[in-house]
Amino acid sequence: MKKIAQNIINDINSLIINKKNIVIIPHQNPDGDAIGSVLGLFHFFTAKGKSATVISPNNFPDFLKWMPGANDILIFTKNQKHAKKLIQNAELFVFGDFNSLSRIKNLEKSILQNDAPKILIDHHPYPDDFANFTISDTSVSSTAELVFEFILSLNSINEIDKNIAECLYAGILTDTGNFSYNSSNPRTFEIAAELLKKKINKDHIFKNIYDNYALSRWKLLGYCLYEKMNILHEFKVGYISISKQELEDFDFVPGDTEGFVNYPLSVKGIVVSALFIEKNDIIKISFRSKGEYAVNELAKQYFNGGGHKNAAGGEIELSLNEAIEKFISVLPNFFEIDE
Ligand code: 5GP
Ligand code: MN
Repeated sequence: MKKIAQNIINDINSLIINKKNIVIIPHQNPDGDAIGSVLGLFHFFTAKGKSATVISPNNFPDFLKWMPGANDILIFTKNQKHAKKLIQNAELFVFGDFNSLSRIKNLEKSILQNDAPKILIDHHPYPDDFANFTISDTSVSSTAELVFEFILSLNSINEIDKNIAECLYAGILTDTGNFSYNSSNPRTFEIAAELLKKKINKDHIFKNIYDNYALSRWKLLGYCLYEKMNILHEFKVGYISISKQELEDFDFVPGDTEGFVNYPLSVKGIVVSALFIEKNDIIKISFRSKGEYAVNELAKQYFNGGGHKNAAGGEIELSLNEAIEKFISVLPNFFEIDE
């Protein structure tokens, strides 16, 4: 079954043929799926002789830097001048893994100044209407999976080389927690199988992503589990909070807290978890849930965020304690208390 309407594909095909300078953009604080998707597209367009560049709104974790092409990603916060020039000269934009231009933060302004055609490939609910072509499907595991379907729809599956396959596999792997959630559709495994046929080494990819942290990260995790995890059994909720000072004490580098939000969910009976991290002026919050508990609604209503039903996030200008208090105070609106 074709995932993407043929008329959209036809239009995009002619765009690709006619445009040379392509800028590809993931969301702010890109995760494995965002980086895997945009790098997959980067290799795809580059092999077609295009001048393609990935511009990330900000830096991304070290455990994604092994991906082929990662060193060529332009970081907007580090290289604004060069990035702005590329954006100015872009003839086509491709956006990966976000549903609202606000998710690319400071890049938004520059993008809006160039009305070159824009393609969005994403799997978040309710995409805003900011692209000329929106390829959005919430039923797929990841944007990387949708990029595979996109390339397939362009009749270009043979152009998926080892580089593209590694990037897309990494995207699927990270957005499904190593195939532990969002991956019940057989299609996800069929695509993984297609990628494995490109001779990627899946065990290497796993090691690169999950077995590559500094010792201090594991100590931070141990500290969080032992000292900082709170369980509210009456709400079936668990949360972890980490202050700026604690991050400094454990030599934090971006990516170190990846996955922490999942731990409260592994406590028996817990269905919703949250991770509060104190940044410079804001508290960044990640939410996860099981089943019908829609944490994207919680993130949207109270924490200026959004996301998927079972994985969402937001941010708020409060102190760490105030943010936690707010979270606890809104729980009764969302989750029924057992009698
Ligand atoms: P994470 O907790 O891994 O940072 O983010 C999980 C998911 O929540 C992301 O894939 C994204 O969909 C959503 N998300 C995270 N932070 C934000 C945010 O600040 N705003 C919005 N709209 N979505 C977010
Ligand atoms: Mn994703």
